[in-house]
Amino acid sequence: MNKIILVLADALRYDVARDNMGFLGHLVETKQASLYKMIGELPSMSRPMYETVHTGVPSSLHGIVANSIVHLSKMPNVFQAVKEAGGITAAAAYYWVSELYNNAPYDYIDDREVDDENLTIQHGRFYTEDEYPDIELFRTAALLVRKFSPHYLLLHPMGLDYRGETFGSDTKEYRNHVTQQDSYLAPFLVEWKELGYTVLVTGDHGINKDGSHGGRTPEQREVPLFMVQPDSQGKGDTGETVSQLQLAPTILRLLDLPIPGTMKHSRLVST
Ligand SMILES: [Zn+2]
Repeated sequence: MNKIILVLADALRYDVARDNMGFLGHLVETKQASLYKMIGELPSMSRPMYETVHTGVPSSLHGIVANSIVHLSKMPNVFQAVKEAGGITAAAAYYWVSELYNNAPYDYIDDREVDDENLTIQHGRFYTEDEYPDIELFRTAALLVRKFSPHYLLLHPMGLDYRGETFGSDTKEYRNHVTQQDSYLAPFLVEWKELGYTVLVTGDHGINKDGSHGGRTPEQREVPLFMVQPDSQGKGDTGETVSQLQLAPTILRLLDLPIPGTMKHSRLVST
């Protein structure tokens, strides 16, 4: 099994990421990475899209149709596929991810930090406050990589959603933090590539200038997909527009795992 880190930056807009993430931009410019424009599913809300990203099916099928739906995932998903294949799973993520794959409802103490091979997310570090500093979360993810060498790690920072909803996305606060996340990621990207990881960077949804998301405008739907592979072979800016439903089967293909029949959309990589 190969190894993947998915950086799911909450509320990362495609256009702002393309224009303001400098190290990722360098890797794209020099064809050491690939960049796609990804059209997010609907509603462009967080919990429904966490599930879509991990199951490859739309909200009407997986049933997480609003942020208020609190139950475990009922669909084949990436964490489950890795665990069932004997791989190691990990996440540094908002607590709604724990509620989808580990335990619902979330226990603020017991579920916060877990190391249990029987759980779907075996090594989980979860936070509950939207203002939780992204840099602390990036370091937690880096620790999980060094300590457990997970085959699949989800790194899910909330800083852009927080700033976007507080100030709007057409602000220095939002744009500067997109650049900041790129700076946080750069040294870890180098380390993780050397450890043999493929690193994917995307968003669950975008956000508009009013600080809203949920609807279907490009600002709310379009997210980037940066793909950085350990051999540094990329396609640059592909100019391709792809579907968020393609992400889960792409992750499983990159891991070299079978793709469940429920993930019907084509993968982005052939190997
Ligand atoms: Zn979100």
